[in-house]
Amino acid sequence: MKKLIAILICKLVRFIGSFVGKGSSLPGRYALKICPDILKKVTLPEKIIAVTGSNGKTSTVEMIASVLKSSGLKVAYNVEGSNQIEGVTTMVLDNCTLSGKVKADVLLIESDERYAKYTFKWFSPTYYIITNLYRDQLTRNGHPMWVFDAIKESIPADTTLVLNADDPFVSLFGKDRDNVIWFGVDKCSVDTEIFEGVYNDALYCPACQKPMKYEYYHFNHIGKYICENCGFKRNDTQYSVTNVDLENDSITIDGKYNIKLAFKSIYNIYNILAAFTACSLAGVEKEKIAALMCNYILKNGRFIRFTLGKHQGTFLVSKHENSISYDMSFKYISESGKMCSVIIIVDAISRKYFTTETSWLWDINFDLLGCTHIKNIYLCGKYCNDLALRAEFSTIDKSKIKVYESIDDACRHIRHNDYEDLYAVTCFSDKAKFLSNIEIK
Ligand SMILES: [Zn+2]
Repeated sequence: MKKLIAILICKLVRFIGSFVGKGSSLPGRYALKICPDILKKVTLPEKIIAVTGSNGKTSTVEMIASVLKSSGLKVAYNVEGSNQIEGVTTMVLDNCTLSGKVKADVLLIESDERYAKYTFKWFSPTYYIITNLYRDQLTRNGHPMWVFDAIKESIPADTTLVLNADDPFVSLFGKDRDNVIWFGVDKCSVDTEIFEGVYNDALYCPACQKPMKYEYYHFNHIGKYICENCGFKRNDTQYSVTNVDLENDSITIDGKYNIKLAFKSIYNIYNILAAFTACSLAGVEKEKIAALMCNYILKNGRFIRFTLGKHQGTFLVSKHENSISYDMSFKYISESGKMCSVIIIVDAISRKYFTTETSWLWDINFDLLGCTHIKNIYLCGKYCNDLALRAEFSTIDKSKIKVYESIDDACRHIRHNDYEDLYAVTCFSDKAKFLSNIEIK
């Protein structure tokens, strides 16, 4: 009886919420109050795929859902990215019959890395994909190894882990475990033998804390590593990117499946590979997955084309408090090669909580913007002076830097001056303040 009431309440609150624009976690919260073990009581599909990690969860889930749906499977997933237990409960019950059966072939869950343990207390994912562990939201998450401990608690014994072999922190989940499927990128054209990031979280082995050696780095601590003390090393992979050709915007998986990239970036390749692996495990043929993923453009609004006066612009939505997402945007700009200007906005650090903590700016590789094809760099928002101080300690030519606290003033200035390409880099939390100044294409 409690189960039926919880399902009804969830559906009702969801229905009302859709008119008043309320978030997707509230219906689930009510359902959990009525029936705390509701997730255990419903009948879930045979295949449950969960995705967690610091970066790329939403993009990976979106790609998996798209491929599975195009292959004729019915997929229930948290499309709004509401990824804590309340949001997952809303999604599950929303897709349920009144008798408590989820009407889908596959349940696909984007799960918050810290709160996954509350969700997977009630059921085990068939496949649990862990993408990466990076520095992210220091005030909330602390060090990646602290997040490691939180995820570790969430892993049921009977779940098959699907792990990024190139990330030593992620690989540690697979240590002394049999049911693991590994994915990774082979040695490729973007690799370096010397560490080039601003900081190196994997200087020491996560298993024994002795110095770790790398044969090559793809970026930051992602690459081929080995600890000569305890033998912890990058695993051989079952799903591999065997060739990366960024000049021709394409990658090859397992030596024969070519995928054209809509967004040229080594970071994004991992999302594609993780999604490819998940879809293959869900039973879709590899040829079909590759065809469906060719030139796939993400719909989650992280890459937006716009105009501002005579300027053609690209908005690269990044994440504050997450240096790798900024590195990814800066690298994209540095490799564009065409004359451009860059706008960087840090106005509200988080939309979920208040913090003035800006140490993460020092983790970002600002040297990437030291290239000659960048004409001006506009630093904007409440934290413009923190940005300016950070930029001082970089290879950027200081005469290119323009500081505007007001985003509107900066955009007004740019609108009436010149016509070079523009790149805007900021977080979801500050996205709207910039969008109100531009024309979306
Ligand atoms: Zn070791």
